[in-house]
Amino acid sequence: MKTGKAYLYSSLRPDERQEKGFADFLIKRYQQDLELIWVNEPELDHGFRLEVGNDIYDWSPEGLFRQFRKTVERRSTEKEDIIPLLKDALSSWELSALPEETGTVRMVGDGIARISGLENASYGEILLFEDDSRGMVLNLTDEEVGCVLFDTEEGISAGSVVRRSGRNAGVPVGEALLGRVVNPLGKPIDGKGPVQSFGYRPIEYAAPGIIDRCPVDTPLETGILSIDSMFPIGRGQRELIIGDRQTGKTTIASDTIINQKGKDCICVYVAIGQKASSVAQLAENLRKHGAMEYTIIVAATASDADPLLYIAPYAGCAMAEYFMLQGKDVLIVYDDLSKHAVAYRTISLLLDRPPGREAYPGDVFYLHSRLLERSARLSPEKGGGSLTALPIVETQAGDVSAYIPTNIISITDGQIFLESSLFFAGQRPAVNVGLSVSRVGGDAQTKAVKKAGGTLRLDLAQYRELEVFNQFASDLDEETRKQLVYGQGLMRMLRQNLNRPYAHIDKVIILCSALSHALDGVLLEQIPEFLLQLTDGFKQTYADVCRRIDSTGDLTEKDRETIIRYAGTVNEQWLTQKQSQTE
Ligand code: ATP
Ligand code: MG
Repeated sequence: MKTGKAYLYSSLRPDERQEKGFADFLIKRYQQDLELIWVNEPELDHGFRLEVGNDIYDWSPEGLFRQFRKTVERRSTEKEDIIPLLKDALSSWELSALPEETGTVRMVGDGIARISGLENASYGEILLFEDDSRGMVLNLTDEEVGCVLFDTEEGISAGSVVRRSGRNAGVPVGEALLGRVVNPLGKPIDGKGPVQSFGYRPIEYAAPGIIDRCPVDTPLETGILSIDSMFPIGRGQRELIIGDRQTGKTTIASDTIINQKGKDCICVYVAIGQKASSVAQLAENLRKHGAMEYTIIVAATASDADPLLYIAPYAGCAMAEYFMLQGKDVLIVYDDLSKHAVAYRTISLLLDRPPGREAYPGDVFYLHSRLLERSARLSPEKGGGSLTALPIVETQAGDVSAYIPTNIISITDGQIFLESSLFFAGQRPAVNVGLSVSRVGGDAQTKAVKKAGGTLRLDLAQYRELEVFNQFASDLDEETRKQLVYGQGLMRMLRQNLNRPYAHIDKVIILCSALSHALDGVLLEQIPEFLLQLTDGFKQTYADVCRRIDSTGDLTEKDRETIIRYAGTVNEQWLTQKQSQTE
């Protein structure tokens, strides 16, 4: 099977012998069997131009002449004859990536370089340095070009020659990346050898337009009861996970990835500025749950240079887009965008851009909007794929009105707000039901979950109100006391251990039962055990009902009654059993 593509441009189609020559060259250079695609380019009336990923080879007379001139200029002294030199150049001539316009480094340091002489360089273009390291253009002024460096700056000094590549930054994409941990340039960092993939995509790409999109109406189940029941996420949606440090943000994302097992959804996890050990731990956790098979981890760790942190989410998005355009469903997690914004701020300040609010540059909104806009649910004509994004943002002391959080809240289709006080009180996942929202709403739920959990948000809102009112009251009337107990039961029901996603049917059974007061009388600390007994028992007794609910995704009134009746009897049995135990 061909593992990638190489494009050959010329005005005349190459003959068989030439084609074989190119194929041999590709195998020798890349050690891979690449598919050679010919593109008619009327302007190239002599010779060929070959493009493989980021590399361009020029086989035209101009290209050859440029190479000869370089050799001659390097070696010529006034006394020497030009002919032997030319002969020499011809014999030592070797095809190499295109040297087009060249510039000179004026200053290098702190991961950036300023270069003069590159008049035609464009924003985002890759520049090639003498020592084979790469940089990306981020600043264009009349006199010079500012670029960020992806490798160490050891081999670069003032006066070094820089070449334009004519290409914007791209990363390898393809199935071969699944199960791997790579850096934002697509190089594997998990010690499992090279990635055998040769599809390339630019890291920056225009988001799908309005016509190409379709409404978000298919659920992407996280397996987390509090999210799936109240803030459902649909395929193609962007849902922000926001909260202070250590409130379980990453856990929600990784649990969602684990829950996609067997659901035909590819996952990309982008780690930005995290400790390498945390990323390794996460990869190990996913592997343990069999989730690495369909997951790519793109990691720019805290020790990497800021430019790598800056491109990481775009690189991950390009890898995800590849699958979306093939009609697949993809989930991407950006963990986290606050660190991304900080990396971009550092780069911008080094490039002398004027600082704005909180010292972020003026275009920090665009930084994230162009990234998150690339998430979409494509129309059937475009293959029907989807890209769901779960960006993560860290707040300081719960302040959601800081610059970056407000920006991203306004870009996304809702947020899941995690609160430290809930987390420390043991309410995990620490979802704040009042402040969280999903703007896609019930469209992104199966009818069954929607019907089963319909009043949950309202009931919890009432409970919160009562709770505040009765904080200091000593004698409560019976009705209020019952409502409080009911609310406490619901809150306890929403607690969920990590790495334990609920199946669809479990959610329906639990929601139906709890909202019909089946938790009444059960001691709070016994609720998890009770729920386990209830779901297991129901699934055994009514296997056909469960099958029907799962296959249709709907809950008929009759099935609902069956669940409620069953929950009632389990509740009765539980209470009598516990009573006899205490006696
Ligand atoms: P950071 O700000 O460091 O990125 P975070 O907000 O991503 O942290 P996590 O790393 O997901 O938080 O979780 C913090 C800790 O809380 C972890 O040790 C995790 O095991 C624990 N934790 C998270 N969710 C739960 C849960 N539902 N039940 C029990 N423990 C949990
Ligand atoms: Mg985290």
